[in-house]
Amino acid sequence: MKSASSRPEPVITPEFASWWDAVRRHALEIQRCGHCRAWIHYPRVLCPHCFSDELAFEPVNGSGHVVTWSVVHRAQHPDFADEVPYAVVVAEMAEGFRLLANVSGIELDELRTGMPVCVSFCDFANGVTLPVFVFDPTA
Ligand SMILES: [Zn+2]
Repeated sequence: MKSASSRPEPVITPEFASWWDAVRRHALEIQRCGHCRAWIHYPRVLCPHCFSDELAFEPVNGSGHVVTWSVVHRAQHPDFADEVPYAVVVAEMAEGFRLLANVSGIELDELRTGMPVCVSFCDFANGVTLPVFVFDPTA
């Protein structure tokens, strides 16, 4: 999907670089600990479970279910003024980590706890790609 909107560009820290590289390729790859095998999101320099630095990014299937959401009615940045109201959703993903993203193609009053969602990607005019949740009718 393409959008004509421009947005502020993310600040890409070294820990997030692989995540953003995958998102640009329309792939969801999440950091995983090579020692205790825990999924870690957001990316860090040490595993928050065992403090190992054996961290690598692995592909995940991108499906999950809605845990909670918030509907934003007032834009906190001028580039988002044409997009309000919009929802920011926290979903529990199949692998057990939680991911926060906007939704696309879901009416805000249709959002429900437990709703199956999967990750899609939105390419913005300024070159930024972001994951978004869409309804997953196959779940
Ligand atoms: Zn670990």
